[in-house]
Amino acid sequence: MNNRTTIVFAIIGAIIQSSLAALDISVQPLRRVKAAEAHQAVAVDESSFYAISNRAVVRYDKQTEECLVRWEAPAHSNIKHLNSGIVVDGRLYCANSDWPTKPLKNTVEIFSAETLKHLESKPFSETQGAINWIDRHRGAWWIVFAFYGDAEVRRTKLVRYDDDWNPTGEWTFPESVVQRFLPNSNSGGAFGKDGRLFVTGHDHAELYVLDVPGDGGELKYISTVPAPISGQGIAWDRDEPGNLLGIVRARHEVVFMKVSSAAEWEVTADFEGASVKNVEIDQQRRSVSFMPGGDPTRGWPCWWYFRIDGLTADEEITLRLHGSDATVGQQKPLGASWAMPARASYSIDGQTWQPTAPGERQGEWMVYRVKPNASSLYVAWGPPYTPQTAEKFMNEIADRSPYATATELCRSRAGRAVPMLHVREGDRESQDRFGVWVQARQHAWESGSSWVAQGFADWIVSDNPNAAWLRQRAEIFIVPIMDVDNVATGNGGKNAIPHDHNRDWSPKPHWNETMAAQRRVADMIAENRMSVFLDLHNPAPGDPTFFYILPAALLQEPMIGLRDRFIDLAYAKISKIKPMIPMSNRPKETGSSYHPLWRQISANWVCMNGNPDTVSLCLETIWNSPNSTTTGYRAVGTNLAAAVKEYLSERPELPQR
Ligand SMILES: [Zn+2]
Repeated sequence: MNNRTTIVFAIIGAIIQSSLAALDISVQPLRRVKAAEAHQAVAVDESSFYAISNRAVVRYDKQTEECLVRWEAPAHSNIKHLNSGIVVDGRLYCANSDWPTKPLKNTVEIFSAETLKHLESKPFSETQGAINWIDRHRGAWWIVFAFYGDAEVRRTKLVRYDDDWNPTGEWTFPESVVQRFLPNSNSGGAFGKDGRLFVTGHDHAELYVLDVPGDGGELKYISTVPAPISGQGIAWDRDEPGNLLGIVRARHEVVFMKVSSAAEWEVTADFEGASVKNVEIDQQRRSVSFMPGGDPTRGWPCWWYFRIDGLTADEEITLRLHGSDATVGQQKPLGASWAMPARASYSIDGQTWQPTAPGERQGEWMVYRVKPNASSLYVAWGPPYTPQTAEKFMNEIADRSPYATATELCRSRAGRAVPMLHVREGDRESQDRFGVWVQARQHAWESGSSWVAQGFADWIVSDNPNAAWLRQRAEIFIVPIMDVDNVATGNGGKNAIPHDHNRDWSPKPHWNETMAAQRRVADMIAENRMSVFLDLHNPAPGDPTFFYILPAALLQEPMIGLRDRFIDLAYAKISKIKPMIPMSNRPKETGSSYHPLWRQISANWVCMNGNPDTVSLCLETIWNSPNSTTTGYRAVGTNLAAAVKEYLSERPELPQR
């Protein structure tokens, strides 16, 4: 780790921020003004700038560059060597010494900034180092006494004074800067608005940026910045943040410069659904390295989601993602590919998400590059969909549709609301309606499946006559997030301890959401109307969209034929989505060989406990494709809903059945 890199190790869910780090500072000349007295230094205030030579000060209008007032030391004056100037409260303070006389006389000469009338002279007892500059910063005076030549230059010191001119601290210069001062010494200095000290030598076209440790000692070197000046006195324009003035002695020029620093980044993960750990910010390379956060006892740690603040326009951000190293017991860490979509998702407002360009695999790292052109950037494994998102969307739908009610399935074990949309149109009795149950996110990391549920809900309340047909003949329940606690806390959910929601459909469910959903579904089964049950997921990294089914050997007709018909209808629609959502029409099986708890998988439980004509399926929607976006996922949802309508329109209506 060098001083240009900040490494922050953060715990899950904590606020993470970068600490002190080197800035990427650059200096651009704004304009140059000829001024005969631009020989030692320049000072500046709201309306004027001041060219300073050994024995003269001239005030110029900052805008018109017109020479306004000139002061010249009288012949008998002890002002021999003005070195710098700073305007404070209408007074111009200039450092003055009679160097190279020995012993030296050091003073600060004070003028009216407006008239350049000489007001007073403040003597100092230091007789060996020459007073070279004075600045006002944090309620104190700061003065440098310079020593010259290889033998003495290291005695050059910055001294801080209180308002009664009592010294309160003393600092020396780091060797790397001293080497640039030689054969001379420090010439100019001024504190930037970020508290960093910018100093010059007598010759080089450079600024040296230093940090001032609190209690004295050696100034801390940060960086050397090329600047279009030749050392000497400098001054910040307090009215134009970032504007610095300096001189080129040989050309009698005052140079106005813009000093810009790329802002320091901060990574934040203290919001709903956020997850990241092992964050390393390299301010210099503008990159963030990280791993997914997540407690592995609460599911696979493959989900990641965080925000970077402090970005500047036009800059490209490099995201370096490493697979999680978190483990449970003796198990190996989860395969990194689960955390590494070909394209990550990003947003500048946390609402509208789009995919990045394809990432590049570099050994154990996946590298994404984003140019958001905004000050903040949200990045995530996929488009996030949190309990707040669900609540907002369910309420929006209920507001615009008289047939939809935003309600709660239940409260989670941690007490969170589990948003649910309930849709029905007309007076038909509940027991005469097809029961349609749609749920997503039994596995918290599979955010795409919530967007599929969202698309389903959007279609169901739409003006489409087919949607109206369905609303009038069915009662539809949509739960976009089952495992709200793990979604809210950024945990993966899958394989959580003791088992995840999709291994919880037992006679005694562990999770409140499973218990509540199972009860509602059981009620519809009891009324002989559990028609379509859809459990929405995202599959493995290389999988297309497909359905999971139980092996036919475990089922009886008419369930098998009806299920196959539904799959055909859904495939016919989803596989035609443009832009394409790759889908396979060959379902995969989740029987006894699939998982020891296969009977407790929700779609299996509904098959085995359902009505003879219940269609119960798990739909896995591809997440690792260019169209695995909010738009693509929602398109899958609307087509799935349309398939439900088409399927049910082939069925005898209730209660004639
Ligand atoms: Zn899943």
